[in-house]
Amino acid sequence: MELNENARVDTGQVDDRRGSGGGGGMGIPIPGGGGRGGIVGLIIAVLVALVGGGFGLNAMNGGGAESGDNTSLTQKCSADDALKQLDCRNTLYVNSIQAYWRTALPERFGQQYQPSKTVFFSQGVNTGCGQADSGVGPFYCPADDLVYIDLTFYQTLADQLGAEGEFAQPYVLAHEYGHHVQDLLGTEAQMRRQQQRDPDSANALSVKLELQADCYAGAWAKNATGTADEQGQKIFKSITEQDIAQAIDTAEKIGDDAISKRANRPVNPDEFTHGSSEQRKQWFTKGYTTGDPKSCDTFGGSL
Ligand SMILES: [Zn+2]
Repeated sequence: MELNENARVDTGQVDDRRGSGGGGGMGIPIPGGGGRGGIVGLIIAVLVALVGGGFGLNAMNGGGAESGDNTSLTQKCSADDALKQLDCRNTLYVNSIQAYWRTALPERFGQQYQPSKTVFFSQGVNTGCGQADSGVGPFYCPADDLVYIDLTFYQTLADQLGAEGEFAQPYVLAHEYGHHVQDLLGTEAQMRRQQQRDPDSANALSVKLELQADCYAGAWAKNATGTADEQGQKIFKSITEQDIAQAIDTAEKIGDDAISKRANRPVNPDEFTHGSSEQRKQWFTKGYTTGDPKSCDTFGGSL
């Protein structure tokens, strides 16, 4: 993978809240978050506050969370060596993913794309879905329409799950933006209603939602070299077969069965919430080979 050094990094699409603490303590603890030895069950999750059946904090905050100060990030990402920096590169990935959906959503689903920022945080953060800490991994919060990531997650991904390789990063972000698209399309809300009607199938439905986000990530990957910044500069110079192999490898390594095995826990498919390694690999690949998010019908018309 090679990024185009002439592409402008649009830091307006992220909200840099690193160093701002975020541990206000007024939030609702995230069920299952942290406390399981770091990176586990909720890896790359849609984060939903289950307490009280709603998004309590969102109402308390009036829907808005505190914003960070992007000044230093903007300065850093307009320098000549910006693309050597992890945070600038990740901002550019976000730019590419959103540029893709700005075109693809109207084209393939007849709907306008609404942008969503990615919040960079460190350690803990207050979100519309409650208080979260880094242990839960990157997530999308449907209540405030934001993607959240502590960028040190990538190191954890490499160290604890053996998912190395740069392309794991845009894959993770594209998966989260897949959840944003599901939110925009109403898929996420339909799926939550279905879960309430049929609690026994709650996990199976969650798996379908997650696999669809993987498939959307694959569709982005196929089209990523066609994405450009606001001036029309291509964002990627190239994406190779090796990059795609890295994304597939990551998808496999964060499969529910793979994570259970690594943690020496029994593999129980009924408890899967994100899908097996094989399924995650399959659906990312489907999105990639078709390049068409319409092909990502993991629900098979069952919603
Ligand atoms: Zn997810």
